[in-house]
Amino acid sequence: MAETRVAIVTGAARGIGAAIARRLAADGSHVAVLDLREEDTATTVQAIVDKGGRAIGIGADVAAGPDVRAAVARTVEELGAPTVLVNNAGILRDNLLFKMADEDWDAVVSVHLRGAFLMAREVQRHQVEARWGRVVNLSSTSALGNRGQANYAAAKAGLQGFTKTLAIELGPFGITANAIAPGFIATDMLRASAARLGITFEEYLDAAARQIPVRRVGQPDDIAAAASYLCSDEASFVSGQVLYVAGGPQG
Ligand code: NAP
Repeated sequence: MAETRVAIVTGAARGIGAAIARRLAADGSHVAVLDLREEDTATTVQAIVDKGGRAIGIGADVAAGPDVRAAVARTVEELGAPTVLVNNAGILRDNLLFKMADEDWDAVVSVHLRGAFLMAREVQRHQVEARWGRVVNLSSTSALGNRGQANYAAAKAGLQGFTKTLAIELGPFGITANAIAPGFIATDMLRASAARLGITFEEYLDAAARQIPVRRVGQPDDIAAAASYLCSDEASFVSGQVLYVAGGPQG
């Protein structure tokens, strides 16, 4: 039987993060479900517990050093040393470059890039000690460029360089680092985009599906399946990669 591992999934109250947390728990890991407010993590934690898994909810802002240190310390205390980290927390502050406020740039870069950096730096000490670890960072097809997303595209492309560097630095300790770059995944994050375009979410999904080779939009479980593989023992020779999960080729 596979060893029980402790995983931290950020931004796991809903959407892709919640699906990844549930999937890693189903795979046998104990999971720290991290999100901005602890009370928002209850649904994900309950879903895991209902299936016989073990999970705790932690409220923390991944971009804040003291929050990150406290979150990892609580994970160690209540679940054990974390060796799996999924940096999934994210926000959108879309606007065309000429209208983008300083705060929109800073907020997006801070959550995605600084957040992933702070979390990875804090968790790596436990991974190095265990001589085993998995880091999965959520990038995006937007890393290749997307109108209205200069901040988000820069952060998601930055995460790819960050991932490759972690793979090089941490590889000697049995730790792999990979990125998943989702295409269009039906989550709350995109509801706001539909509202901004003045169409319903369903119309937005239909229009997106028509542009995707497999003729459907992605679901959070599509990303969870990829994360499950990258976090598995079998994936120990896959590191520093960016896996586009988008229903068709990218790049
Ligand atoms: P989502 O439904 O908006 O969920 C994101 C979660 O992250 C929310 O629960 C959010 O909390 C949390 N969060 C935001 N800022 C945080 C912070 N500073 N600290 C801790 N948690 C924070 O988004 P999603 O669609 O599942 O996306 C998950 C990841 O996949 C993101 O990194 C996103 O960029 C990436 N992605 C998504 C898509 C897509 O099509 N959906 C495509 C490509 C990449 P609040 O609700 O309180 O804000």
